[in-house]
Amino acid sequence: MVMNQQILRLNSAGQPIGWINHETAARLYYTDQVVYECGSSNIILRGGYNRITSLRSSLNINSIVATRNMSKLDYSAFTPSLTNSTLFKRDANRCLYCGNKFSFKELSRDHVVPLSMGGEDKWTNVVTACKRCNNHKGGRTPEDANMMLLAIPFSPSRVEYLILRGRTILADQMEFLISHISKSSPLYERYTNL
Ligand SMILES: [Zn+2]
Repeated sequence: MVMNQQILRLNSAGQPIGWINHETAARLYYTDQVVYECGSSNIILRGGYNRITSLRSSLNINSIVATRNMSKLDYSAFTPSLTNSTLFKRDANRCLYCGNKFSFKELSRDHVVPLSMGGEDKWTNVVTACKRCNNHKGGRTPEDANMMLLAIPFSPSRVEYLILRGRTILADQMEFLISHISKSSPLYERYTNL
């Protein structure tokens, strides 16, 4: 595990709550906040030498740590913030009109019901579209433009959002997160078919 690896933080009930860096994780260990570990990988932080024993201190930080003082989360009352990077990741960098994959800069956020027609800028009304398809669709609904949507836009759950927000997710972390999302989630299929 590399130093800048994100650590998955759980509450004491074992619910994933967020990504933390190794410094935050170290502080949680030193303040005795870590109640148990769930990962199968570690990073070792090296500290200073002890003057009497001349042994060097070190701290093993697990890839998944459960911490105390976190109340049970209300998973239903979660509204993830909408950004292009998480939106494109939700749709696997695929244009939901032509079905092709594109790089980040070739993609755009399309409002299924256009803003000009009262459509909202929210997860369930936005899809990833290549710039060409977005231009072609213009200020029309998919029906009016005669363009079929390849998938229904959805708002990510708290755990799905953690998957979309993760930079480099380790295999054990992904396995843990996947076990906390619905089998009917498009992300479940995508990440279990690797
Ligand atoms: Zn397209």
